[in-house]
Amino acid sequence: MIRRIIRRIFRKPGRGASARRAVEPAVIPPESHPVRREQISPGSRRVCETLQHQGYKAYVVGGAVRDLLTGATPKDFDVATDATPDEARRCFRRSHLIGRRFQIVHAMMGREIVEITTFRGSEKDAAKTDAHGRLLRDNVFGDQSEDAARRDFTINALYFDPVTEQILDYHHGVADLRQKTLRIIGDPKIRYREDPVRMLRAVRLSAKLGLFIDPETRAPIREMAALLANVPAPRVFDEILKMLTSGHAIKCLSVLRDEGLQQLSLLDAALNEGEKFILLALADTDQRIRKGKTSSPAFLFAVLLWGKVNAAWRRLCEEGEHPNPALSQAMSDVLHAQNEKLVINRRIAGDIREIWALQPRLEQRSGKRAYGVLAHPRFRAAYDFLLLRAAAGEISQELPDWWLAFQEADAKKRADMLLPGGGKKRRRKRRKTENQASHAEESHAEKNSAKEDGD
Ligand code: ATP
Ligand code: MG
Repeated sequence: MIRRIIRRIFRKPGRGASARRAVEPAVIPPESHPVRREQISPGSRRVCETLQHQGYKAYVVGGAVRDLLTGATPKDFDVATDATPDEARRCFRRSHLIGRRFQIVHAMMGREIVEITTFRGSEKDAAKTDAHGRLLRDNVFGDQSEDAARRDFTINALYFDPVTEQILDYHHGVADLRQKTLRIIGDPKIRYREDPVRMLRAVRLSAKLGLFIDPETRAPIREMAALLANVPAPRVFDEILKMLTSGHAIKCLSVLRDEGLQQLSLLDAALNEGEKFILLALADTDQRIRKGKTSSPAFLFAVLLWGKVNAAWRRLCEEGEHPNPALSQAMSDVLHAQNEKLVINRRIAGDIREIWALQPRLEQRSGKRAYGVLAHPRFRAAYDFLLLRAAAGEISQELPDWWLAFQEADAKKRADMLLPGGGKKRRRKRRKTENQASHAEESHAEKNSAKEDGD
């Protein structure tokens, strides 16, 4: 303990931070806000208590505090501290360091994993940017006020102390939240240039929390939208995925369009080719998520790209290609072209292919095929997809109705429901092609083993 106190006294100011004067936060006492320590996850609460007991500062920070203030349920509880990653790790028996440049600590608290981040310093101290001004490094430790200043929006720079139940508010985030305003910290142009993803976060958070984007925060977005092209694709992918699964996808889409941001993502091109289908699917997803259900990324991307696949499939069929290989070709072409814009990870791509490949198989209701389709691990997702196609007027409602009845029927009724197959010769020929197609799918599925269920 004494060694730690001495080390703190002689610690270099802000670990690479400049001698900028620390900004004092407003301290909001428990009687002036509704957040209570019981609302914080047990793990993050214990992490804060332990770190504080060891003489460090420790707070629950960011999205969790913001969400609790608005009455929303936080997705996760992150802890910020002035302990270095090594110091923090030593406080918890079951913990390890993650990341190379800016290390964070994962502490296992029972079954919960709590992410512990050391206060980060000013972005100006990181000083390494690409040709467009985008920050390439963000790995300098700092003091708490610097940590607050490098966060994106005022409502995300709130620190909740589970011991005292005080909130430390460095940038008037609580007032902004009360006034339903999303405001960036600092000069918006500089902050977007440093990290263009903040423009997407502005859209998502304003849609999710029902906030107005402050005019100064909003103004530069349109002219700076193009900077998103320089951001590594996986980050854009993650953010788009967060939008689609936020429960407010439709709203996000409309704000993206209002702000001129839609072009960067696959959303714009996708909407041109299947607007009705996509809007129906997103409205459906929003409802599911608001009811606490999940929606798989594969399903969402299968929806977004279906218009293109469908068009390419039809074209190949018109050119005389057999439907099954034509679909396979169309799927590969679209996924390949898509990867040049926004990389979809391989596992998700495998699931997307399965949902698409099951569509023509759902149209075949004779012989034993229907049983095979019903037993397929992606049947549920493929059936939901079929329902949407019917709702969009792409196919007759009779088909999903038949499948609903088939799922609910007993063995005898199922056998009666099957449509008569074609002649023997034709059937054998068709079966061969279908076997080839399903074999290809199965081997694809094997490659992508360890999959989570789509629904
Ligand atoms: P949610 O968890 O609902 O997606 P969040 O705001 O918690 O929203 P996270 O990605 O979990 O988002 O980030 C945690 C915190 O880290 C944010 O609240 C914010 O303070 C900070 N942060 C995240 N992304 C950025 C960014 N691009 N620039 C600056 N600060 C950021
Ligand atoms: Mg979060």
